[in-house]
Parts: sequence; C-alpha cells; structure tokens
Amino acid sequence: MSIESTLFDGGCTCRFVRYRMTTKPLFVHCCHCRWCQRETGASFALNALIEADRVQLLQGEVEIINTPSNSGKGQKISRCPQCRIAVWSNYAGGGDAVRFIRVGTLDEPDRLPPDIHIFTASKQPGSYFRPMCQLWLSTTKHRRCGPRKALNAERLYWHGPHRSSPNA
Ligand SMILES: [Zn+2]
Ligand SMILES: [Zn+2]
Repeated sequence: MSIESTLFDGGCTCRFVRYRMTTKPLFVHCCHCRWCQRETGASFALNALIEADRVQLLQGEVEIINTPSNSGKGQKISRCPQCRIAVWSNYAGGGDAVRFIRVGTLDEPDRLPPDIHIFTASKQPGSYFRPMCQLWLSTTKHRRCGPRKALNAERLYWHGPHRSSPNA
C-alpha cells in the first residue's frame, strides 16, 4: 500500500520556473468570475490556496506583475520572466500569506479537483460543477451544500489561514 504523497510539483511551460507545494492546499476553488475568465481566456480559473511558506521555488525566479482585480485592491501575479505563464498570485485580501497556485501548472493537476465553486452566477454555458461542491453565486449569496472541508474553507478564504500543524 502506498502512502499518498503530499508533495505537489509544478512549473511554467518553458520549465525555467519549477516549484513545489510541500503539503496539501487549504482548499481548491474554481472561480467563474468574469475577471478570471478574462485572465485565463477560459471558462474559469482553478486555484489551490496554500500558505506561502509551504511553497518552495525549486528553480528559476518569478516576476511579480501588479494586476487589477475585482475588489479594486489588485492582485500580484507571479509569472515566469521568460514564457510569462502565471504560476500563482496573491490577492490583497489574503496578503502575501496565502498563495493562489494555478492548478493547471501542476505536473499532476488531476490530484486537486475543486472543493468549492465561486462566482457561479457568471458561469459559462458548458461548465460543470463537481458533485458535492459548495457553490457560491457571488460573494454574498452562496449555497451551503458542500462537504465540511469546503464550509471551513469559506472562513479561511475571507479571514485568512488558521491552520497550525501540517496536513491538518
Ligand atoms: Zn517559463
Ligand atoms: Zn475569479
């Protein structure tokens, strides 16, 4: 029997940037807001939220680009300085403590399906929801139908991480 690894490696397309998440994330959200749709050019963004000190830069460096955000406070998107792929970002709300890892940049993105779908009011046709996920229509209207992990995530998302021990 194998023990599931809690390491998650990823990087950019040109492989200049390589990084590692040293634990599982706090949670994974699938954001259907218009801003994420524009930034990804896709129907939604998939982000793994994790404490910044649990992300190691294994190789290369990132260039931080200040980018406007829905809140008006902006987000800092960390990109490969060569191929410009975004590997993670920090939103003003969570400060530098919480990184939003772009799940699609992980070597094995299938390991981190979403726990929660947010801004579902602007979901594009054809996007599907993972069963038993919590759905938020917007920042104020959401349906509490998810597992406990996702419910706890709601608090973390707005008030910052309180996890103290690894893999809690
Ligand atoms: Zn690159
Ligand atoms: Zn979004």
